[in-house]
Amino acid sequence: MQNPEYDAIVVGSGISGGWAAKELTEKGLRVLCLERGKNIEHIKDYVNATKAPWEYPHRGGRTRAMEELYPVLKRDYPLNETNLDYWASDKDSPYTEVKRFDWFRGYHVGGRSLMWGRQSYRHSDFDFEANAREGVAVDWPIRYADISPWYDYVERHAGINGSHEGMPQLPDGQFLPPMQLNCGEQMVADKANKIFGPHRRIIPGRSANLTQAHDGRTQCQYRNACWLGCPYGAYFSTQSSTLPHAMKTGKLTLKPWSIVSEVLYDKNTKRATGVRVMDGLNNQVTDYRAKVIFLCPALSKLVWRQATVPARLRLPGRCRPRGLGKSRRRTGRWRRVQGCDGDAW
Ligand SMILES: Cc1cc2nc3c(=O)[nH]c(=O)nc-3n(C[C@H](O)[C@H](O)[C@H](O)COP(=O)(O)OP(=O)(O)OC[C@H]3O[C@@H](n4cnc5c(N)ncnc54)[C@H](O)[C@@H]3O)c2cc1C
Ligand code: SF4
Repeated sequence: MQNPEYDAIVVGSGISGGWAAKELTEKGLRVLCLERGKNIEHIKDYVNATKAPWEYPHRGGRTRAMEELYPVLKRDYPLNETNLDYWASDKDSPYTEVKRFDWFRGYHVGGRSLMWGRQSYRHSDFDFEANAREGVAVDWPIRYADISPWYDYVERHAGINGSHEGMPQLPDGQFLPPMQLNCGEQMVADKANKIFGPHRRIIPGRSANLTQAHDGRTQCQYRNACWLGCPYGAYFSTQSSTLPHAMKTGKLTLKPWSIVSEVLYDKNTKRATGVRVMDGLNNQVTDYRAKVIFLCPALSKLVWRQATVPARLRLPGRCRPRGLGKSRRRTGRWRRVQGCDGDAW
């Protein structure tokens, strides 16, 4: 018999859900991590990770049939036959765009941590002060000094490679050795340096690929295949990094095929008390309770504002007809979401 009472519930097992599960279990909490999609086991389930281009029917490219099936995903580079199984189907999970909104989703354990581009940069005070200085939207409630120790913490665990440049607009971090520029890049960098001096620099990208062994994971083999899952655990993902740490505590229960449809709310205590879950395989509904609930399902709420989604995570409690946080117009606001090309909404 399952025990539906936990210390904490984490909804979603992507980049943020994996971190939440690791942090909470390492603090001693019994955590239930609910993931709407299938499980993808580290290494074992990376079925295309060691395939060569000639082993794919279309050499790893895309076809017209794929473009018809994935009208949103086709807008950018991710649509191709190498990792199609990792992307949520645009046809099965449609949404109405009020204005263009490229929603690339991965519905499985690990979420987009398996397919992300791994570029990892720090914001600086230029970013945190920009709104206030330019009178745009709302001022950020924090500055770089507040978040800098947390960048340190995350970088030390995840393993981010990069060069130390001392540039105020792109702060340095706790880096593993950088990847070197290739000879073409080095030539351009040298030329730029000659013409513009040290103020316009071409530097190596900073990414979550291991340039040396780290935290029990092997270093990158430079195979240019990271969107397939890494058999060496050499790029940061839920599977390679945060999930093993959470599992090691013995305090994590991971439940794939668990679609969270609602946050449960107690009108007397005025607190969220748990979540309602629909089993993705047999539609059975179960309620789970916990004192702490972390919602990490990526865009769910933001999409409420920009698009209409048929099957969505509902925050409203029955006794709060306008929804949790809606009386102060908080839900779906003051959130920042990152897309695949560094674009943010
Ligand atoms: C192609 C691509 C390239 C990218 N490159 C970069 C990059 O280079 N650098 C960078 O910083 N960012 C990059 N990003 C963005 C980055 O991937 C996201 O910001 C990050 O994955 C967000 O983490 P998350 O945990 O919020 O969401 P996700 O990683 O998407 O995880 C959300 C999880 O929640 C699950 N879920 C959703 N709804 C429910 C529900 N109702 N019940 C249960 N589970 C649910 C999903 O199945 C998923 O597993 C890229 C994104 C894409 C698509
Ligand atoms: S991190 Fe390196 S070894 Fe792993 S998939 Fe990417 S290129 Fe290959």
